[in-house]
Amino acid sequence: MLTNPRKPAIFLDRDGTLIHEKHYLHRPEEVEFFAEAAPALKRLSDAGFALVVVTNQSGVGRGYFTEADVDRVHAHIRDEMARDGVEFLKFYSAFEAPDQPSRGRKPSPQFLWDARDTFNLDLSASYMVGDKRIDLEAGWNAGVKGSFLVRTGYGAELERTEGSSLNPGIVVDGWQQVADWILNSIPNR
Ligand SMILES: [Mg+2]
Repeated sequence: MLTNPRKPAIFLDRDGTLIHEKHYLHRPEEVEFFAEAAPALKRLSDAGFALVVVTNQSGVGRGYFTEADVDRVHAHIRDEMARDGVEFLKFYSAFEAPDQPSRGRKPSPQFLWDARDTFNLDLSASYMVGDKRIDLEAGWNAGVKGSFLVRTGYGAELERTEGSSLNPGIVVDGWQQVADWILNSIPNR
């Protein structure tokens, strides 16, 4: 019997990474994409990577907005990115505030493991992309091949303040460099 080959994935943070960081964003009309995101994600998708969003949305746990608000934002993101041929496998959201028990709040690797188990993903060939240390750590904790820090969102400030302590994170300007780095590292392409 043949088994399906496991697929690699790009796990990505939402705020400050896929869309501009806005304080407790919770309305679709507030969504503003980084221009590099769609073309880069399309290239990665075409190369065989599944795309999985992993986001901490503590505004729900803090009572600022609801899970339904988050769902509406994610439906909007799906619709907009689909116009550019980008499809996300799933959005994983941790709704808890930092002081509340949470199964998947980053830096927990739990949602990456859930995605691996649900969609038969190969974490050892996958990458995490985000603008905070917790994003990189979620990737490292899960056992991905590499974690990228983008200089968008909080990334540039983090690079200034923490510098070399971000190793072995791969620090890049944005999505174009992420896609170039990953696709150039794949042999025979
Ligand atoms: Mg972020």
